[in-house]
Amino acid sequence: MALTVKQKISSGTFFLFALLLLSGGVSIYHLVRLQNDSKEILKDNYESLNYGHGMQRSLDSTAIDRKRYLLQLDSFLKLQEANITEPGEKEITAAIRKEFTGFRSGDSSLSNMERIKAGIQQVLALNMSAIRAKSEKANRTAENALTYISLIAGFILLVGFTFSFNFPSVLTTPIKALTEGIREIGLKNYNYRIHLDRKDEFGEMARAFNEMAERLGYFESSDLNKLIFEKTRAEAVINSLKEASIGLDKNNIILFANNQALQLLGLQVKDIVGQPVEEVSKRNDLLRFLLEEKGNMPFKIVVDNREKYFTKEVVEISQDDASSKVIVLRNITSFKELDVAKTNFIATISHELKTPLASSDFSLKLLEDERIGHLSGEQKQLLQNLKQDNQRMLRILSELLNMSQVEAGKIQLDIMEVSAVSLAENAINNVLTTAKEKNISIQKEYESNDQKVPADSEKTVWVLNNFLSNAIKHSPEQGIIKVAIKKTGNTVEFSVTDQGPGISSEYSAKVFERFFKVPGSKAGGTGLGLAISKELIEAEGGKIWVRTEIGSGCTFGFNLPQG
Ligand code: ADP
Repeated sequence: MALTVKQKISSGTFFLFALLLLSGGVSIYHLVRLQNDSKEILKDNYESLNYGHGMQRSLDSTAIDRKRYLLQLDSFLKLQEANITEPGEKEITAAIRKEFTGFRSGDSSLSNMERIKAGIQQVLALNMSAIRAKSEKANRTAENALTYISLIAGFILLVGFTFSFNFPSVLTTPIKALTEGIREIGLKNYNYRIHLDRKDEFGEMARAFNEMAERLGYFESSDLNKLIFEKTRAEAVINSLKEASIGLDKNNIILFANNQALQLLGLQVKDIVGQPVEEVSKRNDLLRFLLEEKGNMPFKIVVDNREKYFTKEVVEISQDDASSKVIVLRNITSFKELDVAKTNFIATISHELKTPLASSDFSLKLLEDERIGHLSGEQKQLLQNLKQDNQRMLRILSELLNMSQVEAGKIQLDIMEVSAVSLAENAINNVLTTAKEKNISIQKEYESNDQKVPADSEKTVWVLNNFLSNAIKHSPEQGIIKVAIKKTGNTVEFSVTDQGPGISSEYSAKVFERFFKVPGSKAGGTGLGLAISKELIEAEGGKIWVRTEIGSGCTFGFNLPQG
């Protein structure tokens, strides 16, 4: 089984520790032996010396008190007999016993005493020489212990040095290799590999590194890399767009916002990208407006103290069964400025044309007067045509002028409590002649005659006039037009119903848009009348509407609040 680095470290430590124990053990063994040897000297030989000297003294004192010192000598001799340690000591002690027995039983001759003394001297000499021999042996043991300890200490030092020099390289070599590898990967050298022929964690690390380098190499040349490149390019394109763009994923997390969008929102990338749009919109009014505003009407944003106009477009991108979206803000300030210039131009031109047209209308009326001169039938017809064209031009100019006022936001209302019936009657009177020309009869359905409503009577009559002119234009000869007034809730409802061709549902919602004319409908109009009507009624706080079905006529109407 492969040893891990940790195991190696601990086995090295264990080895050192074992050596220390071993050397300690050997030293202790020698010291114990030394101590044992010394003990032996003291305990056995030294006691024999004591007994010998005791016997000697007892023998010398027998002259003073024979009985007492014989007993004493006997006890020393007994002790000596029990303490035989050296080779030959037993025989000498036995000889002393024999001579002493003779001495005790009455042989007190000098020669006998001399033999006992000689025996004692031999015991003493024997033990003295044994002490010397053992002392030398102890010295030798001590010297041996010192030698062993020195040798072991030297060996430990040697192992320690080898270990301390070699051990760090066990760690530093792979770390150096890894550092070098990371540096090379940082330099995009994905062919770099670490070669570590080891079976431990470092070996595994080298293998993982090499796998990573291989995958990075593959990744570099794979489609994924191209995809990321495309993403970066797309981001660069989005940033270079003039339109402010904000991208949301299917979970409404903000994916990107280009520089233009960030500038308008007054935010930085870090405040917005990756955040749920709901969260960001809580602290950003413009973003909240963009999310809440469903229509695509132009709106104004003040940027760097300048009013700028934008329209919002939401581009849906289908993704699985959900869809992500991009909110695009188009800067239409330059168009708006052109539009304002156009409106001013139209206002000026219509105003300037109105005076000469009014005077030519007056001249035409004079020409009709018999007092000025007689006209032939043909001339009268031409004059009639001229008058009609003149009237049409005057109407168109009046509509253009109204339109320019509406566009410039210059509608000035003169609101007063007026009778609803008088408004309708005024409008009907204005179109009676035209209605007569087509034998059209106008029916009045007024719920009551005393309904009052706050309104600008001139503008409201203008709207009713527009409804009636359209109804007459689109009604068949001898048709019936119904003008109704009724109260609904707290509003007064005005409506004009005709028996004309009606409008298909596909166009009915568009008739209030500027310059819109139902395809195939009668020529001659500007497509502005209903758009202006809508603006005027809404300015009065009312609502304009149409109910129609193809083939069954139209009902145009509006409701004005009663305050
Ligand atoms: P115009 O000057 O063309 O009448 P309007 O804004 O008044 O402009 O009307 C817009 C269009 O709506 C007309 O061109 C016509 O096609 C259609 N329209 C308006 N009133 C009626 C109606 N009563 N019956 C059928 N179509 C109508």
